[in-house]
Amino acid sequence: AANITLSGVTKAYDAETVVIPPMDVELRAGEFTVVLGPSGCGKSTLLQMIAGLERVSGGTIVIGGRQVQDLEPKHRGCAMVFQNYALYPHMSVFDNIAYSLKVSGMAKAERIERVGAVAKMLGLLDFLGRKPGQLSGGQRQRVAIGRAIVREPGVLLFDEPLSNLDAQLRHDMRVELADLHRRIGATTVFVTHDQVEAMTLADRILILNKGRIEQFDTPKAIYHHP
Ligand code: ADP
Ligand code: ADP
Repeated sequence: AANITLSGVTKAYDAETVVIPPMDVELRAGEFTVVLGPSGCGKSTLLQMIAGLERVSGGTIVIGGRQVQDLEPKHRGCAMVFQNYALYPHMSVFDNIAYSLKVSGMAKAERIERVGAVAKMLGLLDFLGRKPGQLSGGQRQRVAIGRAIVREPGVLLFDEPLSNLDAQLRHDMRVELADLHRRIGATTVFVTHDQVEAMTLADRILILNKGRIEQFDTPKAIYHHP
């Protein structure tokens, strides 16, 4: 797992609108941070700047001791899970999860072993031959998570991954995600507008309001005032 340090990070999509004013924050290695705030406050922008899917307008981002703000996404050691899963529809579950390993040139035997371990962890062993269209929403989200963790990234980024699921499944997936984090220990940044997710998943909650950090503390400190 890797530390993530943002120093003076700003974002403006155009000259008039500053979405993130200078932001300084350190996310410690192995911690699960939930970024919480109303729609439009800059949560996705923050996540995408860490992932490298949006450029910073100013400032520096250091991940695991390396300045990454000018690096391509694939060189940042981050993996991202999106709300809409973003799976390859024509590929099997196995191939979806294995894709990045194959691109990186990993030998077939090791790929099969890694995909098997991840599929086991996520309860997908019986579905490896199916296409995404033959899966439930929860199964699809597990595949998306599998695809993200299979390379053992130091940083795991989630953009409202549970928003498309029904209430029961959201609950089950929260439990699974907490368990997964205990097992793999990646530094995790999880964007949501759901307070229950924040309270149950976070080591620390980062509350954003109009791009500014309003609070950054443990759920206990934020929700249980003495
Ligand atoms: P959240 O994830 O909290 O809903 P976003 O990071 O998506 O917020 O958006 C923050 C602000 O930036 C919003 O006002 C949004 O309209 C604006 N914004 C997001 N993406 C773009 C873009 N590509 N171009 C211009 N403005 C954008
Ligand atoms: P390619 O045929 O493009 O070289 P691979 O060598 O990765 O692809 O694997 C061949 C096929 O075998 C893949 O399409 C993959 O779906 C399947 N496959 C390999 N191992 C397993 C496994 N343990 N479970 C299910 N399918 C597997």
